[in-house]
Amino acid sequence: MPLFPGTVHSKLPKIGTTIFSTMSKMAAEYNAINLSQGFPDFSCSEELIKLVNEAMLKGNNQYAPMPGLFALRELLAVKTETLYGTKYDPDTEITITAGGTQAIYTAIAATIREDDEVIIFEPAYDCYQPAIEVAGGKTVYLQLKAPDYSINWEEVQKMFNHRTRMIIINTPHNPTGSILSEQDMRQLEKIVKNSDTVIVSDEVYEHIIFDGTVHQSVARFPHLAERSFIISSFGKTFHTTGWKVGYCVAPKNLMAEFRKVHQFLVFSVNTPIQFALAEYLKQKDNYLGLARFYETKRDFFIDLIKKSGFQFKPAAGTYFQLLDYSKLNTDKDTDYAIRLIKESGIASIPISVFYHKPVDNKMLRFCFAKKEETLEKAAGILCKL
Ligand code: GLN
Repeated sequence: MPLFPGTVHSKLPKIGTTIFSTMSKMAAEYNAINLSQGFPDFSCSEELIKLVNEAMLKGNNQYAPMPGLFALRELLAVKTETLYGTKYDPDTEITITAGGTQAIYTAIAATIREDDEVIIFEPAYDCYQPAIEVAGGKTVYLQLKAPDYSINWEEVQKMFNHRTRMIIINTPHNPTGSILSEQDMRQLEKIVKNSDTVIVSDEVYEHIIFDGTVHQSVARFPHLAERSFIISSFGKTFHTTGWKVGYCVAPKNLMAEFRKVHQFLVFSVNTPIQFALAEYLKQKDNYLGLARFYETKRDFFIDLIKKSGFQFKPAAGTYFQLLDYSKLNTDKDTDYAIRLIKESGIASIPISVFYHKPVDNKMLRFCFAKKEETLEKAAGILCKL
């Protein structure tokens, strides 16, 4: 068939608009409390804003180096080594990106070819599959086991073969708030050993982990680290999701491929913000205090909704709490989420959209990165349902 002007053969025929835009837009339309898309409704640190202003006034307003400001990469190398024990060379193994999503897309674009298989775990964050599809790869879906949303490693072993070019893991996990244990990482290590499978480890919530649990970065496991792109996000860590700055850490050979794509996708990232982050990151409390900060919010929120009709298991990490509404309503989760916006004035994210074939467990995701007053108002609504 010839292509006529205006005729587009979509590369992503089944993809619509991401659920986060859809729900935030609807929340605004109906003036609902927005606990759907994950972002804080409180301000980031004034000091950080001042540092950005200062960097601008000092004249740091032109292109940053393609892989990012060296001073910032140096600090990230120290942070990664101190927390997880693996040394990365800031010169060749760390790149500053325009957020986590760009880093994930770039890692996939740089490594996945036509018909390569990529294993992802459902419910899966929604940016993985489209990136695989654009690259011509084949997504292999495995389900996390409810109610813990844990990985069945025997199933992974069964699906693993010589075409498995990549496995994407995510801990702490969005949308479920579950985390991977050391045992999980050892299992993964066993499966990928002696293969050329690459790992994308989405660790954007690395500092938001609760109840004294330690974050199991792939960087703690040398046989995983040697084949992994680790993705992280300043937006999550410093309450600045709108700045869209994140980073990727990977061994030299992988990072070289990553940068070949990165330089033509974004070239480089916002300069004054990188200067500010390079100062702000020097104070370790700015990220080490985050777990306690969000644990307090989680506990505040779940305490308020204990007496509601929702059932839940407290999130182990991230700033999302899953709530099971099966005792309240029999609607599909997508319908129920829309009803809650229109009729009750509260927005959440239905979990079925994170599956390639909708699995409706009657679960909604609520973001608790909010002021106490917002959480109180939200809980007030949820307790009346
Ligand atoms: N990561 C955010 C969430 O899970 C959404 C980011 C986005 O909207 N792209 O809600």
